[in-house]
Amino acid sequence: MRAVSILGATGSVGQSTLDLIRRDRDAYRVVALTGGANIAQLAADARELGAGLAVTADEDRLGDLRDALAGSGVEAAAGRAALNEAAARPADWVMSAIVGAAGLAPGLRALETGATLALANKESLVTAGPLVMAAARASGARILPVDSEHSAIFQALTGEDMGTVTRVIITASGGAFRDWPAERLARATVAEASMHPNWDMGQRITIDSASMFNKALEMIEAREFFGLAPAQIEVLIHPQSLIHALVGFNDGALMAHVGPPDMRHAIGYALNWPERRALPVAALDLAAEGVLEFRAPDEARAPALRLARAVMEEGGLAGAIFNAAKERALDHFIAGRIGFVAMAPLVEEVLERMLAAPEARAARGGDDLTLDRVAGMDHLARQCADLVAREITERG
Ligand code: NAD
Ligand code: MG
Repeated sequence: MRAVSILGATGSVGQSTLDLIRRDRDAYRVVALTGGANIAQLAADARELGAGLAVTADEDRLGDLRDALAGSGVEAAAGRAALNEAAARPADWVMSAIVGAAGLAPGLRALETGATLALANKESLVTAGPLVMAAARASGARILPVDSEHSAIFQALTGEDMGTVTRVIITASGGAFRDWPAERLARATVAEASMHPNWDMGQRITIDSASMFNKALEMIEAREFFGLAPAQIEVLIHPQSLIHALVGFNDGALMAHVGPPDMRHAIGYALNWPERRALPVAALDLAAEGVLEFRAPDEARAPALRLARAVMEEGGLAGAIFNAAKERALDHFIAGRIGFVAMAPLVEEVLERMLAAPEARAARGGDDLTLDRVAGMDHLARQCADLVAREITERG
C-alpha cells in the first residue's frame, strides 16, 4: 500500500486525484487531506477514504471541521502551521494542488521528508524555483510535473539526453477570449473569463488562461523544472488542446505529446510513475478531430508572455514579485475593481517598482533565495499591487 497525501484536495486537481485513488482504493493509504472553506467536501472525502488527518486552511473553521468529522476517527486541524504539518507527515507520494503562492511552503515541507511530490502548484516553481529544486536534491525527493504541458515535456524527454534538446514548445488553447477582437477585451466580465473552451479547471487558473498569465507562469515553470534557457521556450496557440507540448531536438525532430484535455491523464501519470497504467481517459479519435491548428501568439494581445520573458531574464525574486502581483491583479478583477485588460499593466508596474528596490536587486542571482525572503517579497509586492490597483481605479 502506498501512503499518499493530497494538499488542496477539495479543488479541481485535488478532486481528480481522489477520483483516481477511489478507483484503486486498496492500493492506497490516505495520510492527510487539506482544503479551504469547503468543509463539507473535505470532511466527506476524509471520512470515505479513512484519512489520518484533515486540515482546513481557514483557522476560523476548525470547530466546523471537528463537528463534521465527529466519530470518524479522522484528526482535524486548521491553519497554516497545520497545513505544513500535514505536508510533513510521512508519505510516499504527496499531491501539491493548493492554488497560489500558499502552496509553496507545504510543498517544500513534503520535499524535505523525501516524499515524491506531484507538482500541480506551478506557483512553487515561479516564486522559488531554485529553492524547490534544491530542496528535492538535498533530500533525494523526486518532483513529478502535473501541469499538463510539463507532464507532456517530461514524457517526451523519457530516455533522451537533455544535451540534445534545442527547444520546448508549450501549447496554449488561447482561453476564453482567443477569438474576441482586441477592443472587446476591455469589457470582458468575470463570468466570461471564467469559461474555458476545452478544460474544466478552478476559476483562478481559468481566468489566467484567458489573460495568458497561465501560459506566462508555465514558461517560468518549464525553465525552472527542466533547466532551460529562456530563449529555448516557445509558446504556440493550439485551439484544440490535444497536443500539450513538443520537445525539439538537435536533429530537427519534434516529439509531441497528444492526449484529450483531461487532467486525470497528467495526474495519473504522476501517480503511477515510473509505470504506465490504464487510466479512465477517453481514447482520442483523430479522424473525428480532422484538423489540428497552430498559430503564433499575438504578443500585443498577450503582454503576460513578454512579462514572463523579462522575469526569466531577471531571475532571483522577480518570479515572486510577478506571481504576487498577478494574484492580486486577479483578486481585483474578480472583485470588479479593475478591468480585464488592466491586469497586465498592473503587474508590469509592480515589477518595475519592486525590482528597483534593493531587496530585489540583492537576490538577482537566485542562489541566496530563502523561503523567508520569498515570503517577504511576496508580501511587499501584494501591497504594491493594491496601491497600483487604487491608482488605476482613481484614474478611472
Ligand atoms: P482550485 O481553486 O480548484 O483548488 C484549490 C485548492 O487549494 C482547494 O482545495 C482550496 O481549498 C485550496 N486553497 C486555496 N487557497 C488556499 C490557501 N490560501 N491555503 C491553503 N489551501 C488553499 O484550484 P485548481 O484548479 O485545482 O488548481 C490547483 C493548482 O494546480 C494551481 O496551482 C493550478 O495552477 C494548478 N493546475 C490546475 C489545473 C486544473 O486543471 N485545474 C491544471 C494545471 C495546473
Ligand atoms: Mg497547464
